[in-house]
Amino acid sequence: MKKPLIVQKFGGTSVGSVENIQKVAKHIIEAKDDGNQVLVVVSAMAGETNRLVDLAQQVDSVPNARELDVLLSAGEQISMALLAMTLNKLGYAARSLTGGQAQIVTDEKHNKATIEDIDTQGICTLLDQEQIVIVAGFQGVNRNGDITTLGRGGSDTTAVTLAGYLGARECQIFTDVDGIYTCDPKVVHQAKKLSTIDFLSMEEMAKRGAKVLHLPSVKYAQKHNVPLRVLSTFKNSSKGSFVTGQQAPDGICGIALQDEMQLIDVDNTLIASLLAQCHMLGIAIWNTTESKNTTQFVVKHADYIKLKLTLSEKMHTASLVNLITVVGSMKEISEDKIRAILSENGVKIIFYTLNIRYFTVAIRPEEVDKVANILHDIYIDSAVVIER
Ligand code: ADP
Ligand code: ASP
Ligand code: MG
Repeated sequence: MKKPLIVQKFGGTSVGSVENIQKVAKHIIEAKDDGNQVLVVVSAMAGETNRLVDLAQQVDSVPNARELDVLLSAGEQISMALLAMTLNKLGYAARSLTGGQAQIVTDEKHNKATIEDIDTQGICTLLDQEQIVIVAGFQGVNRNGDITTLGRGGSDTTAVTLAGYLGARECQIFTDVDGIYTCDPKVVHQAKKLSTIDFLSMEEMAKRGAKVLHLPSVKYAQKHNVPLRVLSTFKNSSKGSFVTGQQAPDGICGIALQDEMQLIDVDNTLIASLLAQCHMLGIAIWNTTESKNTTQFVVKHADYIKLKLTLSEKMHTASLVNLITVVGSMKEISEDKIRAILSENGVKIIFYTLNIRYFTVAIRPEEVDKVANILHDIYIDSAVVIER
């Protein structure tokens, strides 16, 4: 009888040092010794992708997209090889594969590619030979054979997609926290761990900045029924959080934080050229606020740098902001109440948007910790907690 398959993904901190890679190896060996086939996806060592981006930007503030992918994909190759060596040394057969070697085929979009197909034959052969297969996360090749990457945080998507193609029993995302919380636990210390969370809520959290899961990984898992769990590499006792269920319950499910956003002011007469430029460069606009003569747009800081090259004289002011989004059903939310409480605490709201599934406040970056804790206190700690 064929053994069940477990896919395990280890993020940057988990593979951040040779010492931590030993801890990663333990989890893999445990799953293997339990009688599973094991496929592992790894990220680059902590800080490595940022280091490579920084190197590229020292050469060119907007580096050639194809070459950037060649550079960034190297980060994951380092960790996959170190992990395979570690497992070999411990007496376990392991083989590392780049995205291309794993036959992960993506579309053409350098730096933000989407996986289109995976020919899993080679991987299956290795797994059937009792090898532990280690695949470099975040990368694939397009139909021309050029290396592509999936966008920052994309290793989660590699893992979930491979789990889907291979019919894995579970896709386990190992990271530096022990599950999905009501807010980033590094910012809000009393955030609560959710033992389960439904796909809709998780998707909204990921969309609004909760980077614990890469948004496309959540969408893929939902569409293809991939059992998806987030758990800690370092804390053995916890079962983590399981993403399951299609129905979002009533009430607030969590708070998502998005940093490094850029607010830009554009003359209303120039909106058409800004929109055309954003469309051409594939830049997402997060929020628009119109006033009499100008319109404020919010884009990611990295995208703003691209826009600046062509539109600098048309953009008046640009400042960094953080977005804090309260996710969940918005029946009970009063804009006046939020404005009053934040104002009492000396917080200036740069803009505010309310939607049926969330509300967002934009604030100055230095106020994130304060505002996240205030909003968590009001909408989660003081509210009835729904254990999911
Ligand atoms: P990895 O390198 O393992 O992929 P990431 O940094 O991409 O790790 O994602 C894990 C981090 O996500 C956590 O360390 C935490 O700071 C952050 N995070 C943000 N929102 C949440 C949340 N709601 N629950 C858990 N972690 C969160
Ligand atoms: N190494 C890539 C990044 O830092 C991909 C990932 O970690 O998932 O974004
Ligand atoms: Mg990540």
